Amino acid sequence: MSGLDRASKNRLTMWLRSEKAFGLTRLPSPVVSESMAAAFVVASAPPPPVVKPVVFSPRVASPSPVMKVEQNSPVARRENKPGPPPLLILPPSAAPFTAPLLSRDDKIARLAAMDSQEVKVCTKCRLHATRTNTVFGEGDPDAAIFFLGEGPGETEDLSGRPFVGKAGQLLDKMIVGMGLTREQVYIANIVKCRPPQNRVPGADEAATCTPYLERQLEIVRPRVIVTLGLSATAYMLKSKVPMGKLRGNWQTWRGIKLMPTFHPAFLLRQFTLENREAVWSDLKLVLSELGMPVPKRAVS
Ligand code: SF4
Repeated sequence: MSGLDRASKNRLTMWLRSEKAFGLTRLPSPVVSESMAAAFVVASAPPPPVVKPVVFSPRVASPSPVMKVEQNSPVARRENKPGPPPLLILPPSAAPFTAPLLSRDDKIARLAAMDSQEVKVCTKCRLHATRTNTVFGEGDPDAAIFFLGEGPGETEDLSGRPFVGKAGQLLDKMIVGMGLTREQVYIANIVKCRPPQNRVPGADEAATCTPYLERQLEIVRPRVIVTLGLSATAYMLKSKVPMGKLRGNWQTWRGIKLMPTFHPAFLLRQFTLENREAVWSDLKLVLSELGMPVPKRAVS
């Protein structure tokens, strides 16, 4: 070390410390051999300038931009360097659920655990930054009917419960019109956090969040899913067909029958007799499919 100037000594000390930081349990003795010090000076010295030889050659076509990378060359080492792990979002499955049905108590326990341990603390997509509460979903874990909306609105975000605003009140009326109560069905959304300004959830947000929904559906295992509105329907069916053509026609999602119908918020905006009759017609199909009595109900 004695033959080194102050700058080289400092660089050597920093290098030894970084070696320790990378896993060496003990710093080597500060007494460094002259050969090691000399090697360090050589290794840390700036590389000599590369002088390109001037080669005269006949004009040829320029080489392909796709160059063969030599094994173990600096380029190859850089290309093979492990980068950040790829974002792993598995494509949604189309196969029916095959796991055995759970007991009611098991369903309650699993849904509660998913909500408290995963969804409430979830930061997997950007929607977590603007939410007040997550909105997991609620209802009978043994429900035959699973109503599915697109995402929480302002009232839902503030309360942490699905469909409790004006559209939710209309959904409650629709459920009562079916001869049921809100506690007898299950209600949830595609995304568990409110999109700002109630915008439609982005495809990446929906793709990130729907594994929760799929697990909810696998646990509850309803006999019918009723998708409310185009967003929820299009996401579940991976379809671009307009809502007017989809609604009222049975579809299947992972072996579960799926009935698309209008969103209650759409009904509130376009409260026409025609739209109300269309929704009532869809809900009657659901009741018939489940063998439930269809109340004689005047569309109001
Ligand atoms: Fe997590 Fe879903 Fe909320 Fe995104 S929307 S932060 S994925 S719970």
